[in-house]
Amino acid sequence: MLLLDQASSVLHRTAIRAGYRLAYARSPLARRHAELERSQWWPRERILDLQWAKLQRLIRHVYQQVPHYREAMEALGMEPQDLRGPEDYARLPLLSKQEINAQRETLVAVGFPRSRLIRTASGGSTGAPVGFYHDPDMVTSYRAVKLRNFRWAGWEPGDAWARLWGSQFDVAPHQALGQRLWDRLTRVLVLPCWDLTTTTMRSYGEALLRFQPAVIEAYVTPMYHFARFLQQEGITGIRPRGIICSAEMLFPHQRELIQQVFQCKVFNRYGGREMGDVAHECPAGTMHVNAESIYVEFIRDGRPARVGESGELVLTALDLYGMPLLRYRVEDMGAPSDAVCPCGRGLPAMEVVEGRVQDLITLPGGRYLPGEFFPHLFKDFDVAQFQVVQDRLEHLTIRLVRGSQLTEQQVTYLLDKVREYTEGAAQIDLEFCQEIPATPSGKFRYTISHVPPQLTRPPEAAHA
Ligand SMILES: [Zn+2]
Repeated sequence: MLLLDQASSVLHRTAIRAGYRLAYARSPLARRHAELERSQWWPRERILDLQWAKLQRLIRHVYQQVPHYREAMEALGMEPQDLRGPEDYARLPLLSKQEINAQRETLVAVGFPRSRLIRTASGGSTGAPVGFYHDPDMVTSYRAVKLRNFRWAGWEPGDAWARLWGSQFDVAPHQALGQRLWDRLTRVLVLPCWDLTTTTMRSYGEALLRFQPAVIEAYVTPMYHFARFLQQEGITGIRPRGIICSAEMLFPHQRELIQQVFQCKVFNRYGGREMGDVAHECPAGTMHVNAESIYVEFIRDGRPARVGESGELVLTALDLYGMPLLRYRVEDMGAPSDAVCPCGRGLPAMEVVEGRVQDLITLPGGRYLPGEFFPHLFKDFDVAQFQVVQDRLEHLTIRLVRGSQLTEQQVTYLLDKVREYTEGAAQIDLEFCQEIPATPSGKFRYTISHVPPQLTRPPEAAHA
């Protein structure tokens, strides 16, 4: 039976590879991916030259087509040809999340076909959702970067992979079915992480043992929690080549445990919905910037941070022309690095100093809800800020700074969704407030739980 499974999986992989070559060989995605596979090995200077040329081209575009930037450049008495080096570019104003939400339309390129704009939203790292547009070229670039980074972690087209990830809310049944079929065909196993209980985690463990994906992509906290569960249950034998952890800060103790349980390397990834994957660890452990598609600045006290010195991360998407985002304040901290990586890639390096930190919400009945749930839920609504605090097992407080567009009906919907995913196991208090202060470290945390996860608590005991 096992042999039969293995044979069918090899067949499946071969079929996908052949299909991939047939369907994608001439596609913009394959072309872009092939370019990225080559350019990563170029000398650093050559990569930075390409990056700079792309930035200059983008500047010419925004000067001609984007009212927001045209005005900003005119106010500075600056024309595209004045952009000679990073110091010139640094004169342009920074772009905050609040500005994107308030001035979205002046950021859209004039004459860019509306039908080609793709509306999307980000949970935001400070609890303030931000809505923006992507375009097809940006999506191609985003996907090609992902293919390259997946290969660093040991995946090849046609290989099975798994995601311990958040799922969409309110997807129509036919869409859900379509997605499931597509996942099956492309050998993706999706393990929804909004529903972590000992029962689901046991079934995820069994599914992974059968499926044996080449790579697992996961949110940090759920993956750490899941790894602890597998260790405690003595479930061994899930052997991916690599695990990609993303969306939250990855702490050394989490990395160690996950590597120990799965006997493979953990690859840290830094990125977000706004820009795609900004940086990704290579097999040698260096966090390489995907410099062909993102221009990264590190700002400290209004000046560029020095090598090894932490600063505010400011990002420019080089392939987004429909609604260009220049010098975007992503509200995370990082440090530039001049490391020359033994892997041989010329891509520049960086360190993520402080990113999103999310607590796992522990619920009665041995159920867990990752902190990522909340930004995912709130991102499509006019919520200026939010914070979820769990002070005891059966109680959550949701603090909300409402935007002007948020209706009572939407508030009810959001509360209902939280109740649905917590299965009514916790009392939920909603508090509206004017502002939510950052933590003393200056970092904003939008899920805080004072209840530590307890894997050993049997479901019955939790009810008692
Ligand atoms: Zn490297």
